[in-house]
Amino acid sequence: EQAESNLSVTVVGASGDLAKKKIFPALFALFYEDCLPQNFTIFGYARTKMTDEELREMISRTLTCRIDKRENCGDKMEKFLERCFYHSGQYNSEEHFAELDSKMKQKEGGKVSNRLFYLSIPPDIFVDVVRCASGKASSKNGWTRVIVEKPFGRDAESSGELTRSLKQYLAEDQIFRIDHYLGKELVENLSVLRFSNLVFEPLWSRNYIRNVQFIFSEDFGTEGRGGYFDNYGIIRDIMQNHLLQILALFAMETPVSLDAEDIRNEKVKVLRSMRRLRLEDVVIGQYKRNSKDGKTHLGYTEDPTVPNDSLTPTFAAAALFIDNARWDGVPFLMKAGKALNTRRAEIRVQFRHVPGNLYKRNFGTDLDKATNELVLRVQPDEAIYLKINNKIPGLGMRLDRSDLNLLYSARYSKEIPDAYERLLLDAIEGERRLFIRSDELDAAWSIFTPLLKELEAKKIAPELYPYGSRGPVGAHYLAANYNVRWGDLTGDD
Ligand code: NAP
Repeated sequence: EQAESNLSVTVVGASGDLAKKKIFPALFALFYEDCLPQNFTIFGYARTKMTDEELREMISRTLTCRIDKRENCGDKMEKFLERCFYHSGQYNSEEHFAELDSKMKQKEGGKVSNRLFYLSIPPDIFVDVVRCASGKASSKNGWTRVIVEKPFGRDAESSGELTRSLKQYLAEDQIFRIDHYLGKELVENLSVLRFSNLVFEPLWSRNYIRNVQFIFSEDFGTEGRGGYFDNYGIIRDIMQNHLLQILALFAMETPVSLDAEDIRNEKVKVLRSMRRLRLEDVVIGQYKRNSKDGKTHLGYTEDPTVPNDSLTPTFAAAALFIDNARWDGVPFLMKAGKALNTRRAEIRVQFRHVPGNLYKRNFGTDLDKATNELVLRVQPDEAIYLKINNKIPGLGMRLDRSDLNLLYSARYSKEIPDAYERLLLDAIEGERRLFIRSDELDAAWSIFTPLLKELEAKKIAPELYPYGSRGPVGAHYLAANYNVRWGDLTGDD
């Protein structure tokens, strides 16, 4: 029946950046991997006036083929583009969505039709679009699902309000809240690594793990696109969603099964066991002008799209705690920032010292140098590596910190699919495991909302750090409070 039914995907906000860069290319990748049903149609919807041909021309500029699939790529692109159509309309016009509905019906030819809407638009128009689309363009004989992108509100109240408004028109199982970090290969692999390897699973608790770090850094600033960011800041943009989602997956108890509801139940439980974040456990920063490599990089508030007196953090570090039996007392540290010296996202697990280490004297006074550390590098250059102590070959007894290193590019010749491909496919197949349920979202906001309000109410000034640097030194003091050092313990990373 699935093969016979139609699928219509409507990208709302088709003229935008995300649609061009990520969504249309991901849909094309699914098409050439034969993951879309035989009968599918793609619609772009936005206010911009465009013909079908102009949409196709716009999309064709960002489609790419994987290195191992270059053959017939041109043909496939042609076939894909033939199935793409455009409808120009207002976001709050039921009439315009009714017109879209008749175009869809034409393509669907009376067969069972499933409809997926991807809302790639600013959040203040989510509810209008959902009202019009559910009223005038939902499927009469198949399913209708809606993918929404962050931001899901600015705090617990506005997020709750958004959920309530969406639920006036949609059931919870029609709403797919996307967090594209959950579609990343290494994040998916986190559970495989932990739950299917005897050498890791028993270590996953306060008994063996000393601290866990979630690090996100970008080596560029807002660069003239600070309007959206300034209203949210790095804590809402990266920590409360992407990093917290990874933390929940990392720290959850073993789910009953791999079913979406079982996994999401465990994630909610661990989020609800977390302490609310306190002001003293957070350091915020903002990048300032810096000359580096013969180039002057402007500071955050010099971005023309950012107010001159903005206190919005572009960097934050935080220490979080899970008050349950497994993780009591273990600091979970997060660090996220723009305009830093590197671009990467990684999870670092630092293990405890070996009790009564026989080789203690080989490490001098600094036993941290002997600590095992497991690193999952989410991007770039996906890798998993484990830092171990090893004897340097030879007659003496000299030790060396060495890596057991699984570098994906060396081990797997396959190109890794973009996160949006997996998530779109899951939404089409009704797999909800990697989407955020509303109670998860509520739990996530409860941890951060009091802090976000306090930062704003007290007008706390961020610590300035030079563009392209390692970020504010405050982050080191924060970690030191909990006896933690960021990153590689020997500093040779
Ligand atoms: P965008 O380019 O700013 O907006 C997408 C489209 O929305 C525009 O082309 C515009 O189309 C329409 N629109 C409606 N009202 C608008 C308004 N007041 N201002 C600007 N555009 C308006 O956004 P985007 O970067 O594609 O992102 C889409 C959504 O995903 C946003 O909600 C964003 O927060 C979220 N998001 C984006 C990224 C990213 O990498 N870009 C990452 C994560 C989340 P018309 O004028 O033709 O109607």
